[in-house]
Amino acid sequence: MTAPIVIIGSGLAAWSTVRELRKLEALSSMALQPVTLICADSGDFYAKPTLSNALAQKRTPAQLVTTPAAKMSETQNVTLMANTSVHKIDTAAQMVQTSQGDVSYDRLVLALGASPIRVPVDGDASDVILSVNSISDFAAFHAKLDGSPKHVAIMGAGLIGCEFANDLVLGGHTVSVVDPAPRALAALIDESTSLELQSKLTPLGVTWHFGTTVQAARTHENRIHVLLADGEMIKADLILSAIGLRPNVQLAKDAGLTTDRGIVVSELLQTSDPAIFALGDCAQYGFVSGKIQVLPYVMPVMHASRALASTLLGKPQPVRFPAMPVRVKTPAHPITVASPV
Ligand SMILES: Cc1cc2nc3c(=O)[nH]c(=O)nc-3n(C[C@H](O)[C@H](O)[C@H](O)COP(=O)(O)OP(=O)(O)OC[C@H]3O[C@@H](n4cnc5c(N)ncnc54)[C@H](O)[C@@H]3O)c2cc1C
Repeated sequence: MTAPIVIIGSGLAAWSTVRELRKLEALSSMALQPVTLICADSGDFYAKPTLSNALAQKRTPAQLVTTPAAKMSETQNVTLMANTSVHKIDTAAQMVQTSQGDVSYDRLVLALGASPIRVPVDGDASDVILSVNSISDFAAFHAKLDGSPKHVAIMGAGLIGCEFANDLVLGGHTVSVVDPAPRALAALIDESTSLELQSKLTPLGVTWHFGTTVQAARTHENRIHVLLADGEMIKADLILSAIGLRPNVQLAKDAGLTTDRGIVVSELLQTSDPAIFALGDCAQYGFVSGKIQVLPYVMPVMHASRALASTLLGKPQPVRFPAMPVRVKTPAHPITVASPV
C-alpha cells in the first residue's frame, strides 16, 4: 500500500491544503490521495482571526469552532490523528515518530505554525502571563475574564495587541498597553495613523505606556501589580503577552532541514528535503525578495495551499504572492496595512 501524504498541523495551513487537494482531485476526476493529518490539538476547524474579535461579539470559544474535527475528517476524507504530537522526522525512512506510534509518509507537509515569544519577567505572577495563539489559549483567557469587568495589561502594541485592546474594551473591560516603541503599530503604520488609532481607543478605556517594558508582575491582594521599567505601576487582573510569534522550526531543524527564522522553502514550498514541504506561520519563503520572508497571515496561507495542492498532485506550481494587504481588526479605527511582501 502507498504511504499517505502526511500533514502535520490542523490550522489554516493544514486544512486549506487538504481542501485544495480535494478540490483539484474532484475537478480533474482523479482518485483521492490518501492523506493523514496529525495534530497536537483537537483538529477542530476555526478561523484564528476570530480570536481577537470574539469578545465584542460575545462569542464563546465553543462558538468559534466552525467545523468540528470529526466532520472535517469525514468530509475531506482524511485519517485524523488528533491530540498527537510529532516528536521526530526520520527523513531517510520517510517516517514520523508520534505520541501514537510511527507513521510512514510518501510526502510530508509541515504546517506547524508558530509559538508566542516569551520574555523574562520577574515576580510571582510572571507565570500567569497569557498569550493567545490558538482556540485553547483563547478558552483559557476567556475563562479568566470570567464574565465580569477586568483590567488587562497587554504587552505589545502591535497588530494582535491593538486588536485585543479594542476587543477587550468593547467586551466591557479596561486595558493598559505597554510597548517599548513610541506609538501603536509603530512597525506597520505612519505616526499620524498611530495617533488617530490611539485617540480613538483611549476614550473607550485603553491607557498607553510607550517607551517602556514590563519588568515584574507581583500578586497583591488578588490583583497583579505590573511594574514597568520607567517606574510606573499598573494594577491589573490579567496580563496578556502579544509581543510576537516565532516559527516552529525545531522539528525540521532536528531532522536536518534548512531553517533560518522559519523552515526555508522554495517557490514550490519544498524544503531542503524534496519529499518535505512547509507553509503557513512555520515557513520562511526564501525566494521572496526584501527582508520580510516570514508571512504569518491568512492570505499567504491561501495562496501557498493552492499552489502546494497542485504540486502534491504531480503538477508542480510555484507559489506567487500578489499584494496582500492585512486589515487590522480595530473597529474603533479600522486600518489596512500594506502587503508585507
Ligand atoms: C489572535 C490572532 C488574530 C489574527 N488575525 C489575523 C487577521 O485578521 N488577518 C490575517 O491575515 N492573519 C491573522 N492572524 C494570523 C493568522 O491567523 C495565521 O497566520 C494563521 O492562522 C496561521 O495558520 P497555520 O496553520 O500556519 O498555524 P497554526 O494555526 O498555528 O497551526 C499550527 C498547527 O500545528 C500543530 N503542531 C505544531 N507542532 C506540532 C507537532 N510537533 N506535532 C503535531 N502537531 C503540531 C498545532 O497543534 C496546530 O494545529 C491572526 C493570528 C492571531 C493569533
